[in-house]
Amino acid sequence: LYDIVDGIGRSVEGATQSVTGIFEPTIRLGVTGLSRAGKTVFITSLVANLMDRARMGQLKAASTGAIQTAYLHPQPDDTIARFDFESHLADLTGAEPKWPHSTRTISELRLSLRVQPSGLVGMVSGPKTVHLDIVDYPGEWLLDLGLMDKSYAEWSAETLARAQARQAGAAYLAALGVVDPSAKLDEPTAQRLAADFTAYLHAIRAEGFSDCTPGRFLLPGELDGSPVLTFAPLPQVERPSRGSLWREFERRYEAYKSKVVKPFFRDHFSRIDRQIVLVDALGAIHAGPQAVDDLRQSMVDILGAFRPGPNAWLSQILFGKRVEKILFAATKADHLHHSQHARLTAIMEALLRDAKDRAEFAGAATGAMSIAAVRATVEDHLQGLDVVRGARLSDGKQAALYPGELPSDPSKIIGAARDAAEKWLDAEYSVMNFAPAKLDLAPGEGPPHIRLDRAAEFLIGDRLR
Ligand code: GDP
Repeated sequence: LYDIVDGIGRSVEGATQSVTGIFEPTIRLGVTGLSRAGKTVFITSLVANLMDRARMGQLKAASTGAIQTAYLHPQPDDTIARFDFESHLADLTGAEPKWPHSTRTISELRLSLRVQPSGLVGMVSGPKTVHLDIVDYPGEWLLDLGLMDKSYAEWSAETLARAQARQAGAAYLAALGVVDPSAKLDEPTAQRLAADFTAYLHAIRAEGFSDCTPGRFLLPGELDGSPVLTFAPLPQVERPSRGSLWREFERRYEAYKSKVVKPFFRDHFSRIDRQIVLVDALGAIHAGPQAVDDLRQSMVDILGAFRPGPNAWLSQILFGKRVEKILFAATKADHLHHSQHARLTAIMEALLRDAKDRAEFAGAATGAMSIAAVRATVEDHLQGLDVVRGARLSDGKQAALYPGELPSDPSKIIGAARDAAEKWLDAEYSVMNFAPAKLDLAPGEGPPHIRLDRAAEFLIGDRLR
């Protein structure tokens, strides 16, 4: 009943919003991706480049001059943190540029664009204001949707089976070995297990895997140490008694679903119009076939969240509302010479096609691209090789990177057997992180990028005409 009443409440709120929306249309753009995918850098560069637009030639409303001005405006939601645009931009563009602090939780920023619509309508109506509400949230939270229709027993069985197949799982399984799940709950034991399980999730994340539920274990925010984050998977127990470790972990798992996962989908996810999913595809390709296979599965899961049909409670929450466009973007393309960008894009397109088939996804327009929100390298030709050059993050020294070639046939990467040992980008790739380049920008000018303008055209271009 709560969901239905709540749904009605929100549809009234939605209706009022759309009445004001006639005069001042609003686009809610979700920006997500797993930790370190590049969300913070993307939003910072997108906003800076929309405010200035000198580097936004592929965004039609920018190149035609339809966007007259763009300025920051107080955001509509008073209880969500404001995306700290000014400090992030100062980090990137300062005398000693550094990468900004990454996304830890949800945040929001409103950029308002004064747009002169084209054609007859535009001549009559004059300029209009379009609000772009950018909502930044961790991709880990999105993957939690998969928990909603899984019981604690099912989630435990799946998670433990995967841990058994991985080296990183050994420590947690050893910790489990000395615990009796049917014994009475003992809080220090519960905390120890949760800590060991969290360490396991961090370890598999570092190896490039993305099946890291529950997502808040990695990014706990203000929930750190609370009972909803103090549980872990346990082997099945025949008729667990009340007060046992198993029963209490089951209860906490259910509380995590109803008090953490559900409110996020109800209050934030349900209001998104357009979505960009940033993917560190190069990192996964470097990590090897298992990580690529895992990335492909997480793209299926993410698309599943945008196709609520089979998920009854999500359909109810969304109340018929649908995301209109979803862009999957491989980030950090400036690690590759442009001669390889087409191959990276082809891999992303193949991953997306595969995910759409598996998720039987239809509806929203989808796209795949390779981008760099901030270009940290320049291209060079050394010893017959196409390389990229930049300042090494570790010591600031200039270094050139030639990570090897991506295969021209994406199926070589995507269809590879999970346990195949082949890697495509060489060992240099993982150690070669570049510092942001020192930029000599005119006042207000946005940082250099690769295809950020095309990404913006795909996501919001149609609403700025
Ligand atoms: P978030 O966790 O998704 O918010 O990720 P960030 O935006 O903080 O990015 C994580 C790291 O990826 C940064 O600190 C940079 O080292 C790197 N990075 C992100 N975007 C780019 C890019 O466009 N080019 C390059 N070379 N590195 C990037």
